[in-house]
Amino acid sequence: MKNELPYQSAAATDFAEVVIPLALPLNYTWAVPEHLKEAALVGCRVEVNLGKTKKYAGVIKRIHQTPPEFFEAKELVSVLDAAPVVFESQLQLWEWMARYYMCTEGEVMAAALPAHFKLSSETILVFNEEAGDDFTELDHEAFLVAEALLLRKELKLTEVQLILDSSHVYPVVNRLIQGKICYVWESLKDSYNPKKETYVLLHPDYDNEAALEQLLNTDAKLQRAEKQLELLLGYLHFQKTEGAITKQALLKKTGASDAQLKGLADKGILMLEKRSVDRIRSLPKDIQINFELSAAQSAALESIRTVFSEKDVCLLHGVTSSGKTEIYIHLIEAQIRQGRQVLYMLPEIALTSQTIRRLQRHFGGHIGVYHSRFSQNERVEIWNKVKDGSLKIVLGARSSLFLPFYDLGLIVCDEEHDPSYKQMEPAPRYHARDAAIYFSSLFKGCKVLLGSATPSFESYNNAVTEKYGLVQLTERFGNIKLPEIELVDTRRYRTKEFADTIIFPPLAESIRNTLGRNKQVILFQNRRGYTPYQRCNTCGWVPQCKYCDVSLNYHKVYNKLVCHYCGTNYPLMVTCPSCGGHDFIQKQFGTERVEEALQELLPHAHIGRMDVDTVRGKHAHDQLIQTFEQQKLNILVGTQMVVKGLDFEHVELVGIVDADGILSFADFRVNERAFQLMEQVSGRAGRKHGVGKVMVQTTQPEHPVLLQVQRHNYRALFDDELPKREQFGYPPYTRLIRLTFKNKIKEVVQDAAAWFASGLQDPYGRFIMGPSEPLINKVRNQYLMELLLKLPRNTRLITQCKQDILFKIAQLHQEKRYKSVVVIPDVDML
Ligand code: ADP
Ligand code: ZN
Ligand code: ZN
Repeated sequence: MKNELPYQSAAATDFAEVVIPLALPLNYTWAVPEHLKEAALVGCRVEVNLGKTKKYAGVIKRIHQTPPEFFEAKELVSVLDAAPVVFESQLQLWEWMARYYMCTEGEVMAAALPAHFKLSSETILVFNEEAGDDFTELDHEAFLVAEALLLRKELKLTEVQLILDSSHVYPVVNRLIQGKICYVWESLKDSYNPKKETYVLLHPDYDNEAALEQLLNTDAKLQRAEKQLELLLGYLHFQKTEGAITKQALLKKTGASDAQLKGLADKGILMLEKRSVDRIRSLPKDIQINFELSAAQSAALESIRTVFSEKDVCLLHGVTSSGKTEIYIHLIEAQIRQGRQVLYMLPEIALTSQTIRRLQRHFGGHIGVYHSRFSQNERVEIWNKVKDGSLKIVLGARSSLFLPFYDLGLIVCDEEHDPSYKQMEPAPRYHARDAAIYFSSLFKGCKVLLGSATPSFESYNNAVTEKYGLVQLTERFGNIKLPEIELVDTRRYRTKEFADTIIFPPLAESIRNTLGRNKQVILFQNRRGYTPYQRCNTCGWVPQCKYCDVSLNYHKVYNKLVCHYCGTNYPLMVTCPSCGGHDFIQKQFGTERVEEALQELLPHAHIGRMDVDTVRGKHAHDQLIQTFEQQKLNILVGTQMVVKGLDFEHVELVGIVDADGILSFADFRVNERAFQLMEQVSGRAGRKHGVGKVMVQTTQPEHPVLLQVQRHNYRALFDDELPKREQFGYPPYTRLIRLTFKNKIKEVVQDAAAWFASGLQDPYGRFIMGPSEPLINKVRNQYLMELLLKLPRNTRLITQCKQDILFKIAQLHQEKRYKSVVVIPDVDML
């Protein structure tokens, strides 16, 4: 007879479910050895072995007493943190995100944690040159590694393991990282060097009223230096009204000289310090609301408060320049006064120094900025301050949602319609707005405010159906008129003389006029204009797919028109069904070409160009904006980038160079996007003085979207488009899941996609579109195929379908031929 162990001894063992930064379908379980029982808390990082050679730092998700069923759990090696690095709410967010967006908790964790917190066998440590070479303070093990780092500059974690000849490597590494002796190398991130400016600060000795008072009234040396005293008073004034002040701005505003400033610095009264604007600093933790809301703004604010007493989410639909930001500021203030935290999310590109300064003026040192291109130390600094609740407001791009908020009271999601809230690559392919709404539900009474001049149809529909509250601001602040929009009918210029023309005479004339009045111009050209499509040169008609209500793409290789949703092929058009014309063209050009054409037209104008090629890194972007702001440029030519959240005082003319390109993009959201783009671009015109004008070049001046833009009539657009969404089964009536298949061999990927589609026929047949070949069908030597699922909005069905898809993927990988096919689900793809 077998000698059974009493059940109790198993129950006495603790087990830890640990999330490790890998794409594992399930979390693994480790046993907690007796000596780590006190330290192994949920949310702490632990060192674990996986297989024979791999090591990871994972995060404990759960402690329980159930041993794993099919294997014997190994023991945790060590615990890295004295206190948890994340709260339960992060673990819940990770779990939700993994389930909803069909990825793994490990992938979410990898996206969520700053590099500093992520250790694995593949991790490379880089010596911090600023650490010096005196390591005498370190303990013996840390000393050994630090010496090796000093010599070699870089070490793999596996090498550290050899040096230490011990299994307890991670705690040592963790101490070195925390002591800033080294940092973790991240290969894929381009390093971000924010632009530094010299700031003027008051010496801490005088940072209290009594000391300052004494200095100003009795300090003999200062009394004699009258100019310096004046400068100091000027400084104190601007610091109160504007928060952080740069040397350049101070000298300009006070008219003082460099030498006078240096005098004050030499006396130890003021200090000069180089730093970047978005770095958290010891700005005074002031709250300054030094403006009055207009009647319309006050009414909107009241309505939002009323909505929040009943609903958790409110959509603020306010035209461009209606002063939405001022309303956010009031709501933020109320939260701070209650001691709660606020997350203010913006699309990455709108997170400019302009926006940061504007908020710093009101909330000073309460504001921290967070985005993926900050240095590791900065990110960890913010992480910790958010966690202990000392930082109240975070201004950040989508990844700021992952911060460990202590007590979140409000999330503002500004420009909520912006597609860059959706992460495309890699997993988790999440939508930060939607994830924020889930995240807010984890905090008691936490509210979400979505703001936009051109809401996404998803959000607007939620407002119309009263799932969210809806508050509208229909006029610009200060009674400034919305810009007048003029459609330039380019069909009039179809003669040979204009064959290569990009900027047609009416627009050219207006540009000249505007520059003549010393005002500025923005010209917008969409990148997406690059996608090839066929268009009737006579009437502007663009061929559409019968089944999908999207424009067809022109495939050069096959010389065919293709629908990239369902894969249907069509022959090239010869006769236009709309006007009977025979003249079809494809015209494509980018911002570079526009810039050239402009320079030819206006040889003396100073022209700047803003697109992904000219603004690598955030620094370049900010600098270009500043140059334009200071009127060192007359014209700015740009893509979407010029659209976001910028406030230029002297722009009086905005030109949309090729509206046809925007209106023919092969996407079911094309009209929604076109309206958003054009309305947002137009919003840059005449913001201060109300003499803005927008000119739109098109061959289809009667296009309904253009007429809606002309009248700034969002509601008409929404009412027109929604029935089509319903008819063709698109969001907001359905949820989309796109599956992308990748493989080196074209036939294999095609067959795999077909195999997959037929496997899902029962019961999802009527929801499947494709397989089809995407327009760009080969990326990094991998061929691509796509399947699109349009699922009715039935939560049970969607949840089941996601499970079935994951199961099918596992099955696909059992097939020998398809083993190497990668399948990428994208839920709610944009
Ligand atoms: P939106 O975000 O809606 O496009 P903004 O918040 O940028 O609009 O406001 C547009 C302009 O009007 C900004 O220059 C802002 O400073 C100014 N403004 C808005 N509301 C007020 C107010 N209550 N008092 C003073 N200026 C305001
Ligand atoms: Zn035609
Ligand atoms: Zn189609």
